[in-house]
Amino acid sequence: MTLLDAVVVGSGPNGLAAAVTLARAGLGVRVLEAQPTIGGGARTLPVPELDDDLLFDLCSAVHPMAWASPFFRAFDLRAHGVELVAPEVAYAQPLGGDRAGLAWRDLGRTADGLGADGDAWRDLIGPLAEDWRQMTALALGDKRTVRGMLEGVRGHGGYASETWGAAASLARPGLRFGTAVLEQGGPRWDRRFLTEEARALLTGVAAHAITPLPSYAGAGTALLLAALAHADGGWAVPVGGSQAITDALVRDLEAHGGVVETGRQVDDWRDLPSARAVLLDTTPRTALEILGDRVSAPRRAALGKFRYGNAAAKVDFVLSGPVPWAADDVGRASTVHVGGARAEMVIAEDAVAHGTHPDRPMVLLSDPAVADPGRARGTRRPLWTYAHVPSGSTQDVTEAVTRQIERFAPGFRDVVVGARCIPADQMERHNQNYPGGDISAGAATMWQMVARPSLAPDPYQLAEGVYLCSASTPPGPGVHGMGGWHAARRALLREFDVRHVPGLAPD
Ligand SMILES: Cc1cc2nc3c(=O)[nH]c(=O)nc-3n(C[C@H](O)[C@H](O)[C@H](O)COP(=O)(O)OP(=O)(O)OC[C@H]3O[C@@H](n4cnc5c(N)ncnc54)[C@H](O)[C@@H]3O)c2cc1C
Repeated sequence: MTLLDAVVVGSGPNGLAAAVTLARAGLGVRVLEAQPTIGGGARTLPVPELDDDLLFDLCSAVHPMAWASPFFRAFDLRAHGVELVAPEVAYAQPLGGDRAGLAWRDLGRTADGLGADGDAWRDLIGPLAEDWRQMTALALGDKRTVRGMLEGVRGHGGYASETWGAAASLARPGLRFGTAVLEQGGPRWDRRFLTEEARALLTGVAAHAITPLPSYAGAGTALLLAALAHADGGWAVPVGGSQAITDALVRDLEAHGGVVETGRQVDDWRDLPSARAVLLDTTPRTALEILGDRVSAPRRAALGKFRYGNAAAKVDFVLSGPVPWAADDVGRASTVHVGGARAEMVIAEDAVAHGTHPDRPMVLLSDPAVADPGRARGTRRPLWTYAHVPSGSTQDVTEAVTRQIERFAPGFRDVVVGARCIPADQMERHNQNYPGGDISAGAATMWQMVARPSLAPDPYQLAEGVYLCSASTPPGPGVHGMGGWHAARRALLREFDVRHVPGLAPD
């Protein structure tokens, strides 16, 4: 039997980021993917039951972190042939009638549109947007080591790049970010803004965390994503859909000798070819099933306590034209948070946290053709939405989502040509990393954003030669490849004595 250098289980963005990093260090890498298609949460596929020509993003659709993440900055998606396009309005929050909060790419224009809250928005988000490199370094670091944070500021120079100067450069942005999280994640969150436009605009982004609001995890998510809206790449979508990111990673992997095998479910250690290193782009639960008593008893106990969160139920629509938003300029945004006013979103998220389906659920919507007109075919276009629901929900939420959108876009029903729901309990069929429909692969509580998947000093290494690299590790959910990058770099150092992190830019 040939001994492989490394096997990666799972071809999500983290699995592929790990595989690319290892292959570029000259190792023989094989990726085993259970599904028939590659990419996990970054796949764009036809849905024949809906339309013969259109392509739909199965999971992720909008990618502020794909250009901002230190891994992807080093990899250079553009140079790898991925065109990222950002809409003029990063995200919008319709409030009924002609009212809406709008986050334009341009911070000044956003502030102008927020009237009485313009200065307050500029004061809160402006400095964070200016320091977006430091912000992403902190938010997407390994949450354990100084050097795991520094790579984000200093690029991809390797472990030797650790310097106190770089660490000091994180101090001020870190303090600013931390103070803002405490303010917007706590009971004083209403004090800064006077208008519903500004309050709701930030709350819509906080809701990405699927937690009761306000929460520190929600505030951290909101402030990072809101800052990135005004930074270099905005809330970008890849031309052609999220699959473009996956395809670029796979091309690079194959160019460096790696292979991906689909239809390879791994349930047991015996399903794995023998290899010097195994990296699991899976949940901790799956990892424990595969590894059995290869993981020490204390570590098993700690990982057994990892909590999975509430869920999303997906609804894909085919439309015969753009969404007829009532408020001006909402249609210039690819991403629209359809939840109404701050108080309504608080009620909706609270209901989900208590295990019930809200009448007016929090809906996230992406209309990719706004930024990438090539996604439409003639007048037909795909519309990507999901609603927050309790974990394991079996409900088809098509009608609830339609009703929510119709509130802010009267006539929406008239442009709907077809729709299909993937209820939360079915999400696992497409990707077992989302138990019960938890699209964050682990509840986004403040504790679990830091101590993910447990408080172990090394969150990635589970046993000798075995690493967890999925969104259940730091920094958590999103298409940024950072969990894979952090884990692969540890594996390189410990299993192969490779001290210099390989460059990732195109050869
Ligand atoms: C509906 C939805 C919308 C989202 N929207 C966004 C968004 O707009 N922007 C954004 O940045 N993020 C978004 N996300 C989150 C993002 O997709 C994930 O955080 C990201 O894909 C996580 O990457 P990963 O590599 O850790 O795991 P995943 O992408 O989940 O991939 C894991 C892979 O491992 C495979 N696998 C798991 N277990 C096994 C096994 N035992 N054997 C073999 N293979 C296995 C799975 O089949 C899967 O392909 C969304 C997610 C969902 C579900």
